[in-house]
Amino acid sequence: MDKSGNERTTEHKKRIKQLRQIIIAIVIVMLLLPTVLSIVALSRIRSLDDRLNEITLLLSDMNANITMSTHESEEPKQRTASGPTPLTERSLSGYEGEVSAEDGQYEGVKKVYLTFDDGPSLYTDEILDILAEYDVKATFFVNGHEGMEAEYLRISLEGHSLGMHSYSHEYSKVYSDLDGFADDLHQIRELIKDITGEECSLYRFPGGSSNAVHRMPMAECIDYLDAKRIRYFDWNVSGGDALTEPHSATQIVNDVCAQVKNINSDTVVVLLHDAPGKRSTVEALPLIIEKLMSMDDVILLPITDETEEVQHVRP
Ligand SMILES: [Zn+2]
Repeated sequence: MDKSGNERTTEHKKRIKQLRQIIIAIVIVMLLLPTVLSIVALSRIRSLDDRLNEITLLLSDMNANITMSTHESEEPKQRTASGPTPLTERSLSGYEGEVSAEDGQYEGVKKVYLTFDDGPSLYTDEILDILAEYDVKATFFVNGHEGMEAEYLRISLEGHSLGMHSYSHEYSKVYSDLDGFADDLHQIRELIKDITGEECSLYRFPGGSSNAVHRMPMAECIDYLDAKRIRYFDWNVSGGDALTEPHSATQIVNDVCAQVKNINSDTVVVLLHDAPGKRSTVEALPLIIEKLMSMDDVILLPITDETEEVQHVRP
């Protein structure tokens, strides 16, 4: 072979080598590309999923009232009676029949517990004035509101029951995980203790125990409350004042009284709200009390440590 023939052969081999390298590079890229794209897509999906959860929880907070009203319409499960509830002299309201304060026997009597969630608010004093006027004791499931020390104290001093309704009432905080739930609970318990000296042992879950927005199992929250000897209460009668468009005062009065009259239970927990925007609740309250007190099988009581629970969820 002459010199130019050798050069052509070398050039040819070189080109084949380059071509082979290019083909290998393309094959490697084609093999790696789907893997890389899959990893990128997966991480993107995961971050979108997290973001979606956050947005869902945020929307839940913003639409707390709507969510709550949805649950109010569900038929709550009730625990069976665990025994008679001792009746104290101060808690008797409206009932004219024979009641023994010693043995707490009052068969055939509906024990009605008016409860006010989400306060204290600008309406708390007015609600307390109305309750004082009728000598009725109620239960306030409160949140942490700055600058309302006088209202927390007044609720306690006037003989009403104070219950916790979380400090923040933000679902994304309360129901994020057990640590979040415990921190929030500790915060509201300490606030009440600092102001009133009371070690609070009553709780109402934001949205009720049957809420659909929790990220953690509700059983964990309930077990935690059990361990702390804190009892939680839902409701079996609703005033309908949690809706974004709250019912009128007349509607609230009629709804509450009709439900109390028709309910097949002698423990009746009525859900009402003490919150900005719930003016109709305040307007409805005198008539609710008057109508309930006029029913001869009804007594109005504050929830105490002995009150039989009304609970939507009990694992
Ligand atoms: Zn609430």
